[in-house]
Amino acid sequence: MDVRSSTECAVDARNIGKTYGVGSGAVTALGDVSIAIEKGEFFTLLGPSGCGKTTLLRCIAGFETPTSGTIHLSGRDITHTPPNQRPVNTVFQSYALFPHLSVAQNVGFGLKMLGKPAKEVARAVDRVLALVKLEQFANRLPQQLSGGQQQRVALARALAPEPEVLLLDEPLSALDLKLRKEMQSELKRLQTETGITFVFVTHDQEEALTMSNRIGVMSAGALLQVGTPRDIYDRPVNRFVADFIGETNFLEGHVDGGQVRIGTGDRLGVSLDGQQGNVTLAIRPEQISLRPAEGGIPATILEANFLGTDTHYTLALKDGSHLVARVQSNSTLTFRVGDSVSVSIDVQAVHVLKS
Ligand code: ATP
Repeated sequence: MDVRSSTECAVDARNIGKTYGVGSGAVTALGDVSIAIEKGEFFTLLGPSGCGKTTLLRCIAGFETPTSGTIHLSGRDITHTPPNQRPVNTVFQSYALFPHLSVAQNVGFGLKMLGKPAKEVARAVDRVLALVKLEQFANRLPQQLSGGQQQRVALARALAPEPEVLLLDEPLSALDLKLRKEMQSELKRLQTETGITFVFVTHDQEEALTMSNRIGVMSAGALLQVGTPRDIYDRPVNRFVADFIGETNFLEGHVDGGQVRIGTGDRLGVSLDGQQGNVTLAIRPEQISLRPAEGGIPATILEANFLGTDTHYTLALKDGSHLVARVQSNSTLTFRVGDSVSVSIDVQAVHVLKS
């Protein structure tokens, strides 16, 4: 349980439950989710489709009311505050721009609705258009812009009222890969420059790892782990997180007298004092090295895939289990399908999960 005072947090959601519908048709989208997002952080909610990340975001925005629990923003209870009275703005996957309004009018729309004087609106529009590098497009209509430029307009519009928290619901998923990469660094730059707390929703683990200060991994309406990208990659709390974030090999093992043996009978060199019985070992492909000589765990190359800087080898161990190893392609050692190799595993990096 997080005991920090909610005034330190930009968003402090406690024991959030959300059920859609009633009776036999009811869907529990969020079980009992508590999350504390700090001021000025780039926080990502990551999880597979249907895990409840959009629902949580919509509860923070005020578009949904949680069935149970409370939400504080900078210490203020906003659980029942209407969306337009929250210091929060949302950027959606569909840019939702007004087609008949110019870029500048789109960006200034929210401020105008709030009754801000024209001069103040114009100043804010200039400032945010400069921030997203679209000054020269102020008088164009949305359909005269590329997809990436339209997404920047949507961002500028959401940033114009200077929200305390910006919520971003898969904002890059409609863009092609190259543009998506560009917009990832652009978003990161915008967040750092403005200091606004960003809560970003994605199902793309690579996007989450590159952009976030911290990530919350969700599955089936629950928050499984919150941590920095490094924490989550290096120390996943369970098999789901290890599998969802990056590539992972899982090997079944057995601990006896503090020593771990894998199914082949080979000792792994990991000592686990105080544990006994079956364990699952999570091993990243880059933690496996291959040598032609004897000495390590014997294996045969089943598949070799050259992927530019890395080569991925699929290996068969003598008990029939498979491992994937990622080896830098500039390594002096290259192997071919059918080669016998000796596998060594960086034991420091092996992560032990309870079976
Ligand atoms: P995606 O990445 O596909 O958008 P998500 O992780 O954001 O998924 P949610 O959209 O929050 O997931 O949905 C969580 C669960 O709640 C799903 O089972 C979904 O079908 C259900 N759900 C979402 N909105 C509603 C609704 N308005 N009425 C009924 N069920 C809903």
